[in-house]
Amino acid sequence: MMTTDDTLQLSPQDFVDSLKQQGILRFYFVFDPDQDLMLSSHPQLRPVADFILADKRDFMGHEGMFFQVSQPYDTLQGAFVHRTNRGQAAGGVRYWHYDTVEEYLRDGLRLAKGMTRKNALAGLWWGGGKGVMARNPAVDHDDPEVRAALYRAFGELMTSIRGCYVTAEDVGTHVADMENVFARTRFTTCIPAELGGSGNPSTPTARGVISGMEAALEHLGEGNLKGKTVAVQGMGNVGGPLIEFLFEQQVAKVIACDIDAARVAALSSALAGKNLEARAVPLGDTSILQADCDVLSPCATGAILNPTTIPRIKAKIVCGAANNQLEDAQRDDQLLFDHGVAYVPDFLTNRMGIVNCANEQYGYVNNDPQIEKHLEKDWTYSIYQMSLKVLEEARARGVPPAKAAARMADELSLQNHPIFGHRGRQIIASLVADRWHEGVEVAVQA
Ligand code: NAD
Repeated sequence: MMTTDDTLQLSPQDFVDSLKQQGILRFYFVFDPDQDLMLSSHPQLRPVADFILADKRDFMGHEGMFFQVSQPYDTLQGAFVHRTNRGQAAGGVRYWHYDTVEEYLRDGLRLAKGMTRKNALAGLWWGGGKGVMARNPAVDHDDPEVRAALYRAFGELMTSIRGCYVTAEDVGTHVADMENVFARTRFTTCIPAELGGSGNPSTPTARGVISGMEAALEHLGEGNLKGKTVAVQGMGNVGGPLIEFLFEQQVAKVIACDIDAARVAALSSALAGKNLEARAVPLGDTSILQADCDVLSPCATGAILNPTTIPRIKAKIVCGAANNQLEDAQRDDQLLFDHGVAYVPDFLTNRMGIVNCANEQYGYVNNDPQIEKHLEKDWTYSIYQMSLKVLEEARARGVPPAKAAARMADELSLQNHPIFGHRGRQIIASLVADRWHEGVEVAVQA
């Protein structure tokens, strides 16, 4: 038997080869909280189960993790189910490169937990989970045939785990891929609009960011956006409409940048006459983060808030759409807090992506109240109210906001679904009882 370290430090591809040599095409790890045990579908994989159970950083009682080696492209595909008290685990499927099995597992565990928190804070009756597919370096992942086969196989994985996790779009996955997932399962959202999906969520996401900014201004006793200066990094699908909404709120000035000169030119011309100071910047230019402004809004990439950039921030508020803005969730949350910045956690402000597609199966209504309530000021779980609560709790307890938000989210995530109760756990127990790992429907053709 391999040791834990040996297995964890393998590349996902070497791990896949070793699994195939042992005749393993499906495996699971399922947590038994009563006995504090991690069940492993195969005795050979016990070291991995023990590693997950002992991990204090990313493992947080995840209910189950189900994996397959998809054929014919030998790709490791996993469904990480974190918590299903509020409903089926929901979260996107990431298709990414990982150097080691440990990196792959940690990403799945961390992202699934993040989805539980995001969904709970949004008041959605959904639990949290994440799909992760590790890129096989030997296949061309831009080839449409390869992608079709991979995502259809992932759809079959969804069907096989009977709805304890419902997938969606995430980094490395496109809307066309979701059509392939949907071809093999009903347990998906974010399908193309032509098939009944909810479409691009960027405009509601931008509105959500405005709500977060308004809450932070209120929290600091600074009134509203009127007359303020806002700096926006990234003028894309979210940044573009955000800048337009900011002018609707009568801000005094917007400072913005993008690495794509064409986007800068297009928006500058569309907003001619407004006080927009936009510039194209080279990749790696972080000067916008030190702009003289009231609010800084990261709407480009993640990990831009770190020990190098934080001390130079002049804004009193940081509130944007970019995912994972903090390079290190704990360290940089604290650094921002110590630097006197009111940080509105990204998983609170950018929820409209998941909100938009989470309830696709309930159909659509004009000015949909199920969407609008998130953007209003009075609903208990609206972005505005939750941002305000998080900032107030952070101040009262003397802890940084992302930590306060995580605490509130963890409490909410333990509420059981009003109709279905904690059904996800029952589904997982059924999968174990029925020896899911011995299923044969893994090999999927495009
Ligand atoms: P996008 O790709 O349309 O826009 C991002 C823009 O940022 C692009 O114009 C790009 O050129 C620019 N950019 C990239 N790196 C930059 C840099 N270093 N400096 C300046 N500009 C840079 O993406 P989007 O849909 O607008 O999303 C923006 C962020 O918000 C992403 O992190 C995304 O994951 C997150 N997010 C988006 C949604 C949504 O509804 N679109 C929902 C949740 C989270």
